[in-house]
Amino acid sequence: MKILVAVKRVVDFNVKVRVKADNTGVETANVKMSMNPFDEIAVEAAVRLKEAGAATEIVAVSCGVQACQETLRTALAIGADRAILVETSEELQPLAVAKLLKAICQKESPQLVILGKQAIDDDANQTGQMLAALLGWPQATFASKIELAGQGAKVTREVDGGLETVSIKLPAVITTDLRLNEPRYVTLPNIMKAKKKTLEALKPEALGVDVAPRLATLKVVEPAKRKAGIKVADAKALVDKLRNDAKVI
Ligand code: AMP
Repeated sequence: MKILVAVKRVVDFNVKVRVKADNTGVETANVKMSMNPFDEIAVEAAVRLKEAGAATEIVAVSCGVQACQETLRTALAIGADRAILVETSEELQPLAVAKLLKAICQKESPQLVILGKQAIDDDANQTGQMLAALLGWPQATFASKIELAGQGAKVTREVDGGLETVSIKLPAVITTDLRLNEPRYVTLPNIMKAKKKTLEALKPEALGVDVAPRLATLKVVEPAKRKAGIKVADAKALVDKLRNDAKVI
């Protein structure tokens, strides 16, 4: 069974993001970039399925600028077998990425596509769902457990207030939640081995996909600064403030 994993290059989760001076977006110049954390979980899930004998090949795919090659090399170092970069300097929105991934799926015929539940830069939480819809495949989002059985998969999903277990037929799309696994550390020997693995690059035009943005960002602003708090002398003063100043009780 072949598994396709989508990995996005995003601002590292440890970086304090800053809004660009002209309010057109977030500053990415000279900022540390890494693989989207949910996508690391997706690669780890695929590698564990391969280690368990349930998968035979893992193909990592990233869409974006040439530097996404680094993200793909990380996926290869975790254990993906080969990588595909869909290279473009256009701003990619979830629908465009879903269309690109659909075209790759038609070329590669994977049985399973694993994506992160959301990218931590724009928090869209759309690509996996759109991909499943475009392909007409079943989807199981926010997975915290994946079990393959026969022609299908049993997926435990994190939903409000509990866990939901669903059964889906393959081929299917799964998106990962935080508790699915803890990705392994990438070792130096594996980084070296990853350099020798195949990384194919192609352009969106070669896949026949128009990636032009469908939404225009009007502006991006910093959240309002929180006002400093105050200390009250006792519970009576607190109740008084809540009742008369904040008017919340
Ligand atoms: P989003 O819908 O933007 O929150 O992204 C959800 C998931 O879709 C991510 O965790 C990735 O697995 C995948 N994805 C989004 N954008 C890209 C991209 N440019 N390249 C590869 N995968 C992507």
